[in-house]
Amino acid sequence: MQLNKLGNTGLEVSRLGLGGIPFQYIGHNDSSGIIQAAYERGVNLFYTSRMYRDSENKIGLAVKNFRGKVVLGTSTHKRKKIDGRKDIEQSLRNFGTDFIDIYSLHNVLTLKVLREIMSPGGSYQALEEMRNAGYIRHVGISAHQPETILKALEMAAFDVVEFPLNFIDREAADGLLEEVRSRGIGFVSIKPMVFGCASSAPLALRYIFSAGPDSTVIGTYNMDELDENLAVEETGGQATNDEVMEAITASERHCFKVFCRRCRDCVSCPQRIDIKKALRLYEYFDRYHSWEWAREQYAALKPKLTVCDNCGLCERECPYHIPIKREFSRARVDLLSRRSPRRLINKKLIGR
Ligand code: SF4
Ligand code: SF4
Repeated sequence: MQLNKLGNTGLEVSRLGLGGIPFQYIGHNDSSGIIQAAYERGVNLFYTSRMYRDSENKIGLAVKNFRGKVVLGTSTHKRKKIDGRKDIEQSLRNFGTDFIDIYSLHNVLTLKVLREIMSPGGSYQALEEMRNAGYIRHVGISAHQPETILKALEMAAFDVVEFPLNFIDREAADGLLEEVRSRGIGFVSIKPMVFGCASSAPLALRYIFSAGPDSTVIGTYNMDELDENLAVEETGGQATNDEVMEAITASERHCFKVFCRRCRDCVSCPQRIDIKKALRLYEYFDRYHSWEWAREQYAALKPKLTVCDNCGLCERECPYHIPIKREFSRARVDLLSRRSPRRLINKKLIGR
């Protein structure tokens, strides 16, 4: 197992770590078995969240006999200091540990939320105080938009960033990872399997290892998955560009979602719509449920999608046959109107 320095934290982490989401759905014995086997094969990073129900308890119990040799991370989605502090105290009890290696602010969706967290009485203060008191070793932040991360790094001394990186979400590989690393901050990538849409797990991991975050945390439900993922870590080579493009196409078929490839030169629109950007905003709305953020960004988009006259030129020129008109007709409803609760509920339920 390759170990990487986690920024300037002084920690060394396995480039493949385990994420906590699955442990809330499987039993104690199965969770312990996976964690023990992963540890024996070199995995030393276990990262979860207060949101993922009893995952902290299960991880804490499983690593009890080798706590000093692993890196434990978790996070709070609370925005106020008093609530953040309660979460940290609860996490310490759940893990059964005196200190937590990394404690993060979970899923900071918008700049507005970031400002709330960082303001007096915000949850960042709880993390800072608990770090000063020795209960937390390092403070992290997770977000889905590069600008949120960059703004957060201007505002405070974060030690670790968690950010999506997969063959669809390539902002990290296209610059954010290097930017974060140049500041001595650790980079843990998340969402390696594109919310379960990745058609090939080995290729998805090879892409991530090629991009080279300090670690990527992956949800692992059983021993077969663990074996498969560790085999890729042990033997997988670089993912080529052609393989990545094929994987996106296959994933699109696999999960009925539209993935814009972010071509360097997108097709041009006679109405001057920034097609690539508009598709991206809608993906964030649709896939990450970053509703508020996407609407904020759309409010600043010029020109708006309402100027689209359905000429169809973009669809004829897009080499990947993205159904742009259909996506834009949906986006016009979702990004503009706040009066579509039924559609939002449907999206949540059926995960279009
Ligand atoms: S050409 Fe098609 S796939 Fe490429 S960036 Fe534009 S819309 Fe996306
Ligand atoms: S269909 Fe709409 S987005 Fe596409 S080229 Fe025509 S005006 Fe532009």
